[in-house]
Amino acid sequence: MPEKLQSPKGTHDVLPADAAPRLAVERVARKVLEGAGYRRVETPTFEATELFARGVGASTDIVQKEMFTFEDGGGRSITLRPEGTAPVARAYLQHGMHKLPQPVKLWYLSSFFRNERAQAGRFRQFWQIGAEAIGSAEPVVDAESIVLLHTVLTELGVQDLHLRLGSLGTPQTRADYREKLVAHLRANEDRLSEEVRGRIDLNPLRAFDADHPGTREVMRTAPLLMDELAAEDAEHFAEVRAHLDAAGVPYDLDPTLVRGLDYYARTVFEFTSGALGAQSAVGGGGRYDGLIEQLGGPATPGTGWAAGIERILLSAGHRPEPEPVLDLYVAIDGEERDLRVTGFRLAQRARAAGLNAQLELAGRSMKGQLKQAARSGARYVAVVRSEEIGLKDMESGEQHPVTGGVDAVVHDVLRGGTL
Ligand code: AMP
Repeated sequence: MPEKLQSPKGTHDVLPADAAPRLAVERVARKVLEGAGYRRVETPTFEATELFARGVGASTDIVQKEMFTFEDGGGRSITLRPEGTAPVARAYLQHGMHKLPQPVKLWYLSSFFRNERAQAGRFRQFWQIGAEAIGSAEPVVDAESIVLLHTVLTELGVQDLHLRLGSLGTPQTRADYREKLVAHLRANEDRLSEEVRGRIDLNPLRAFDADHPGTREVMRTAPLLMDELAAEDAEHFAEVRAHLDAAGVPYDLDPTLVRGLDYYARTVFEFTSGALGAQSAVGGGGRYDGLIEQLGGPATPGTGWAAGIERILLSAGHRPEPEPVLDLYVAIDGEERDLRVTGFRLAQRARAAGLNAQLELAGRSMKGQLKQAARSGARYVAVVRSEEIGLKDMESGEQHPVTGGVDAVVHDVLRGGTL
């Protein structure tokens, strides 16, 4: 016997039982985002590799080690999208959306691919909802975008939700700050852990996350990026916070918040859930004013976020969705082909009339069919016999013969309850 095949490591099937809660995520996201003027966008599953090299940043973990990249037949390098912002920005540019009233507000629900080590809440194919507002530098856009994600996550029942908020200033501020931080680490090198010492130039910000007591001591007096912001960036940040305060959305200022992507400027934020384990980030985003320019367009500000659907569901607990109502189950009492064809016709007519109908599909006995109808929660069962069609009200147990063929049956079911 050939070996039974499994889905690849780090991927998962969305089974019917998982589909209902995922639908709820889509429904809530659509209601909240479209209510605020966001419109749905879908970009291709794969893009030119260069889009991510330029639009995410060549030095990021994603581009350095997490992309599924391959060559197509024509020698072009193609990558399965690891994130949604660069593709949406590419689409904005490609389709001349700068001609529309700004900001252009777009949302998506798509799957993404990262070659990461799979663990609880971390997959190699995962799904995100995301929202991007491109074309306005106003701080109110940052605040509105954060409030919308907060609303989506709250409405979906994400437990123990926390918002961390920071500002990265401009790339120049960041470069100056980095120099200052490296100098601070160098001056205190002998008290740092070996790991941090080895990464001073590569990633000095990581030192803020260290557990090592000596390192923690050194970081207590380290310079903070938020204290180094240029006046206009500090003003932008104050404005964002004032709007969040007015909206009653609580947050913690986190001067060490760094996001994995290179293109962020000014506002950055992340929602975490205490209901998740090590992978506690539910969603995050920020402002990316330099992105469109990096993709070859004119300087265009933008802000947005993405939230992982699997993590939303893991952190929201189980909230059962009602199954769709089954109005009519069509059972066949007999072996003749005519009966099966009549039953088939009845199911089609019922559906054409807007009813939810199911047809016996597995050749069960009459008893088996009635059992299956009850298990499916059918309101009515039509039993097709050679002499007539019987219609049974599953709630009252009442049964009566219907003369007048399949249309009369559909009519009776539509009238409902008044057999
Ligand atoms: P990021 O683009 O890394 O900020 O990701 C945004 C959100 O997507 C995260 O907060 C997670 O909820 C989700 N996410 C990112 N990577 C993964 C992954 N490998 N598996 C599942 N969810 C992920």
